[in-house]
Amino acid sequence: MMDVIYVDNNATTRVAPEVIEEMLPYFGDLYGNPSSMHTFGGTVGRKVREAREKVAHLIGALPEEIVFTGCGTESDNTAINAAIESNPGKKHIVATRVEHPAVKNLFEHLSKKGYRTTFIPVDHQGRLDIDALEKSLTDDTAIVSIMWANNETGVMFPIEEITQRVRERGIVFHTDAVQTVGKIPVDVKKAGVDMLSLSGHKIHAPKGIAALYVRKGVKFTPFLIGGHQERGRRGGTENVSSIIGMGKACELAVDHLKEQAGRVKTLRDRLESGLLKGTPKALINGDREHRLPNTTSISFEYVEGESILLMMDRLGICASSGSACTSGSLEPSHVLRAMGVPFTAAHGSIRFSLSVYNTEKEIDFIIKELPPIIAKLREISPFWKPEIPS
Ligand code: PLP
Repeated sequence: MMDVIYVDNNATTRVAPEVIEEMLPYFGDLYGNPSSMHTFGGTVGRKVREAREKVAHLIGALPEEIVFTGCGTESDNTAINAAIESNPGKKHIVATRVEHPAVKNLFEHLSKKGYRTTFIPVDHQGRLDIDALEKSLTDDTAIVSIMWANNETGVMFPIEEITQRVRERGIVFHTDAVQTVGKIPVDVKKAGVDMLSLSGHKIHAPKGIAALYVRKGVKFTPFLIGGHQERGRRGGTENVSSIIGMGKACELAVDHLKEQAGRVKTLRDRLESGLLKGTPKALINGDREHRLPNTTSISFEYVEGESILLMMDRLGICASSGSACTSGSLEPSHVLRAMGVPFTAAHGSIRFSLSVYNTEKEIDFIIKELPPIIAKLREISPFWKPEIPS
């Protein structure tokens, strides 16, 4: 394996060594079913309870308000499904234009089944139009589902203010906090949300484990109907080792929050200013003030993001682009389109997302190596004209 510089942590994260260590016994001798009556299973059940407490602690919830699921997508689907099943008379659902496909595509699916959907717009900086949100709410609205932080730009919405406006209308409010938890402090009680999604693999736990916070008192209908597990809210024998790993990751995340706000943010800012200084016609996408500390989306105008990614890949630098390769054509992402980012910029957008494992040396390597790559790609770009003023 070549050494990589991994700055794609919004896609997924390294499983923390402490997490692996905590999980290993549950693949070996401790294989009991946490629901069993015997002591052997009970020992495992106790560890699952501890893990639930740790997840709850990270977001200021009660342990019984945590439902373990299989992925962030399942948490999002479960929340939205719970709200519409529990409010069968209501046929209007609200989200934003910049949601992750886990929400966006479910909404589009539901619209084919007779639900009226509203996608609230954002401005050029990716900020939500709160007045449009308020105007969209009706007595027929079953749920509002709005992400806390955007996975591509890192832009954060003012969740507390949004929740207040939605809940004073008596409407269920869910937030997709898959990118938020572990990066900034999250307190579900302060935020006032009814439901909140988080996912293990974004916070140094393994893939295939996630959770949904469901506020006590919120009407809930399970998505997976089966056994009594998760208090009847999600059937299926628990993914014990991963739940224990997620508990450990949440414990670590509490400790990492200060580092996210300090060292990680400083590294992100260093990367951003280094790249902007070294490259003409580069711009940051999104509201720089209200942003996750680890994320930056940079558009390098007049070059294709995919070409940048390939050239960086040769140097072992792992990042993401803001376009999706659909049926051979490189479509800019729906997020950048919703923000009205010009075509020439959206195509050349790259997302860098850092973690506590990144170092200054890695960041300086990217700052040194990337500008000549952009310059080289511009030389062969049919759109680039050197006289374009920066
Ligand atoms: N929501 C957001 C904002 C995400 O970034 C992601 C994953 O990238 C998801 C939901 C889906 O999470 P998972 O991959 O655990 O299904």
